[in-house]
Amino acid sequence: MRWSETYIPTLRETPAEAELASHRFLLRGGYIRKLAAGIYSYLPLMQRVLLKVTQIVREEMDRAGAREVLMPVLQPAELWQVTDRWQTVGRELMRMRDRHDRDLVLGGTHEEVVTAMVAGELKSYRQMPLNLYQIQVKFRDEIRPRFGLMRGREFYMKDAYTFDVDEASQAVSYQKMVDAYFATFHRMGLDVTMVDSDTGAMGGKRAHEFMMRVATEGGEATILSCDRCDYAANVEKAENAGGAHAPGNGSAPLTKVDTPRQCTVEDVTAFLGVGAERLIKTLLYVADDAPVAVLLRGDRTLNALKLQHALGATVLDMATPDVIQKVTGAPVGFAGPVGLKGVRIVADWEVPGVVDGVTGANEKDVHYKGVQYGRDFQAAELVDLRDAESGEPCPRCDRGRLETYSGIEVGNTFMLGTKYSTALGANFTDEKGQEKPCVMGSYGIGITRTAQAAVESGHDDKGIVWPYSIAPYQVMVLPLNVRKAEIRTAAEQVYAELQAGGFEVLLDDRDERGGVKFNDADLIGIPLQVIVGDRGLKEGKIEIKVRATGDRHLAALEEVTATCSRLAALLTGGKGEGAEA
Ligand code: ATP
Ligand code: MG
Repeated sequence: MRWSETYIPTLRETPAEAELASHRFLLRGGYIRKLAAGIYSYLPLMQRVLLKVTQIVREEMDRAGAREVLMPVLQPAELWQVTDRWQTVGRELMRMRDRHDRDLVLGGTHEEVVTAMVAGELKSYRQMPLNLYQIQVKFRDEIRPRFGLMRGREFYMKDAYTFDVDEASQAVSYQKMVDAYFATFHRMGLDVTMVDSDTGAMGGKRAHEFMMRVATEGGEATILSCDRCDYAANVEKAENAGGAHAPGNGSAPLTKVDTPRQCTVEDVTAFLGVGAERLIKTLLYVADDAPVAVLLRGDRTLNALKLQHALGATVLDMATPDVIQKVTGAPVGFAGPVGLKGVRIVADWEVPGVVDGVTGANEKDVHYKGVQYGRDFQAAELVDLRDAESGEPCPRCDRGRLETYSGIEVGNTFMLGTKYSTALGANFTDEKGQEKPCVMGSYGIGITRTAQAAVESGHDDKGIVWPYSIAPYQVMVLPLNVRKAEIRTAAEQVYAELQAGGFEVLLDDRDERGGVKFNDADLIGIPLQVIVGDRGLKEGKIEIKVRATGDRHLAALEEVTATCSRLAALLTGGKGEGAEA
């Protein structure tokens, strides 16, 4: 492909809205353009990357025995009402109404549709295991679309669904998908770890996420893993070891103290000269319309998912200042459990262990000190409610400590059990003639997110460094001055030979300065750059630069294709993936 015949609108300036390197480089490299929050166009280079990612995913799914289908994006609301997800997925579900005032959903996932599709037709145990997948656009009304393709409102996903006769058979199907996922990400040059995760609104028994480790703030997920055993979990799910603490043996009397205008943990602890671990913070939530007071140590972070599970709540929101005033009788910042009536109180495991604690006194500008669990207040429930932290004991083994790192979730797998098959009547008859619901699994890979994740893990300060297998082109030819006939001729010859050798080649035929071409080449990140310039040609040589390492190799004109083949083999670990050479 000639640059002049495609569309690569590179930008010199860094777009202000882009926070992540990968987002910046995809915009600057002319890969994507934003239409609205979380909605992007994929320009020619990006479309080529997406097709490659898709192709690798497709090959590995096919190899694992999954069969490709394509299901409707537009779905009737009734389907989602039957499984209750019309409620539980909440505001993330993209809803619309047709001209007859019927509610519709733009699919963000397809458990309902696929189950309804096979219900009544998957009749016998002989038809299973069955694994159906599709690669398709998805819609989700994300609360915070951000980071470019990482969290979009419209994005591409591969979603697969398995149907099995029982849990043992499901476990086999699940493992096949897990193996296929590792193979898929490995082929894309991405290093992923499988971690335990929450099943969320998906329901079901167990779930895992495939996380790509990133060094920066680029990760949206925090992962905790044990330094001794193989425990690894998303922070949403990571457990705290040890169970509920015994009440501390503090003896200080309960005393009111004036704390004028001190309403944050930082303010109060500084004002009273105590550590944040001595403060019992009281957060007010509304769980399915009922107010709840949630207690945890001042130095800890509430885990909203754990709270939602503990409360068994479908919808959980933070209480508004009005509700707080009504429930506690005080403005925001002075809530506390002592004397708090008419509201369910749940506390984190650690709270009873706080000795001579400090809490709000449900009175403006007043706190209590010398607060003791058991003597001054009690919680209806004691549960694990906080985020696990780095350095803490592992919940699985006795000697390990947890370490944290940042990750991007590129895929996940769920054991769904019979939630969807029961709700939608996907039953079969077993060997003994008994009717049973199918045991299901669901498996997603974010196509667009994975493509950007590859950039987040592969870039330097100049631009993208694509993994060879998903690069939009494999080789780029850079004639440094197209006005010179010798350079133009040599470049055309190399371009033709590389294509004949099976390479996907981009020829930068623009009449631009060398500097501009070098910068753009580094920005768009094609793995091999063949540089055709005056200096080399004088000695009959052409320079080949490896984008990833900056290494330069000299080759005679007729050896360029062979040299590129050798370098491609090195880049792909000898497998030569994507290069037929
Ligand atoms: P997250 O926790 O990041 O919101 P999820 O658990 O909602 O992800 P799934 O519903 O299982 O994700 O979707 C499967 C895959 O689709 C994810 O692993 C991710 O790679 C991708 N994905 C999910 N949401 C988005 C999004 N808003 N934009 C782009 N890709 C997404
Ligand atoms: Mg999500």
